[in-house]
Amino acid sequence: MHANPLLESVNKTYEEAVTKLGLREDLKKMLSHAEREILVSVPVVMDDGTVKTFAGYRVQHSSARGPYKGGIRYDTNVDLDEVRALAALMTWKCALLDIPLGGGKGGIACDRRTMSMRELEALTRGYARAMEPVFGPQIDVPAPDMNTDEQVMSWIVDSRAHTGFMWARATVTGKPISMGGSLGRREATGKGCAISTLELLKKINVDPKGTTVAVQGCGKVGGWAATFLHEAGMKVVAVSDVSGGVYHADGLDIPEIMKYIAGPGKGLLKGYSAPGVKEISNEDVLTLDVFVLVPAAIEGVINEKNARDIKAKLIIEGANGPTTYEADKILEDMGVIVAPDILANAGGVCVSYFEWVQNLQGLQWPLQEVMDKLETIMKKAIDDTWAFAHSNNCSMRLAAFMLSVKRVADTVASRLCLPSI
Ligand code: NAD
Repeated sequence: MHANPLLESVNKTYEEAVTKLGLREDLKKMLSHAEREILVSVPVVMDDGTVKTFAGYRVQHSSARGPYKGGIRYDTNVDLDEVRALAALMTWKCALLDIPLGGGKGGIACDRRTMSMRELEALTRGYARAMEPVFGPQIDVPAPDMNTDEQVMSWIVDSRAHTGFMWARATVTGKPISMGGSLGRREATGKGCAISTLELLKKINVDPKGTTVAVQGCGKVGGWAATFLHEAGMKVVAVSDVSGGVYHADGLDIPEIMKYIAGPGKGLLKGYSAPGVKEISNEDVLTLDVFVLVPAAIEGVINEKNARDIKAKLIIEGANGPTTYEADKILEDMGVIVAPDILANAGGVCVSYFEWVQNLQGLQWPLQEVMDKLETIMKKAIDDTWAFAHSNNCSMRLAAFMLSVKRVADTVASRLCLPSI
């Protein structure tokens, strides 16, 4: 049986980071395993009267620095290895931001697009019921991910209402504002991608005005990333989603495209047209002659087959694991700067952290306060990673892993009264 490619890539980068750090063998082994893995079966009475049983997962990778934190994904490809990889990435992401949270991830193998709202609600409530003992504000705090949203989070909160209003709300982030969600959470991951792009362009002395960008994925991450980069004066020449892509050499009208996607009953780019706009395939979006590429859809899209055809000089990983380990090495040799997922898409978990803090304190921060705090934390993580990569002559991905693994290892070592190295 083949290992999951995302898990393989995450494991290889971890191995490289711990070797370069000189981490103790025993700590290295300890941090390579999840603390707890939960597998559940969720039976749902479908609309046609049959009972379908879905496989649900939650991997709690590390609680060394705080409660497990990470999204819940609904997708046909979800399996234990994918969730393991995503959970480990969450541990490193939270440590890189230096926020007091650990790492976890969850998912259900299902095809959301073919399910009715009633089926989706039953599935979500069944999953939440099964995870009841292992979720909670001091234990594990889930959030949205691919194909899950504020509605799914609301069902999870509601299913835990008996634990007390404040407690139930603080169990989940990415909620609607009316249920204690944070202002700015909706756009936070895309905003973090935009902050990463603008900060890194500044470091290499490139004016963002008119600089070209292509974005793969027009969901919660890609849609907002394209919006903020467009607002910053960059020329977004291509965007795509699962239904295909669109291209305009002079730049697309991003606000109009986002309005189209949000239109009734669509949720997809398919059918969008405007003067001068051409259709383009999802694969072609990745190899366009642009300065910045933002893969913000799924994992493994930049791989050994297409890495040499990439023309972008800067890649901002909006998605988790869009670049395989092998492709990463090719891009490094080509001199492409890659802002790794655990840095570039960390804006989401950063505002999730703010949401959790606000819920625990019974507060609602103004939007400006959320955005200012997000910017401060993101910029510090970008500066730390950039400086570490340059002083250690390594890629930003390796630098980000080394910084975060060291932080987690130091915490574990202090608890055990051991040196980490
Ligand atoms: P989403 O479901 O809101 O959007 C996913 C987008 O990708 C949609 O536009 C969809 O059409 C597109 N897509 C799906 N399959 C595709 C394919 N085969 N080719 C091209 N496009 C495809 O999900 P999201 O929350 O935006 O998550 C996207 C990625 O970002 C995931 O890797 C997720 O783990 C990661 N991420 C999300 C968050 C968050 O806050 N939502 C935070 C950090 C990382």
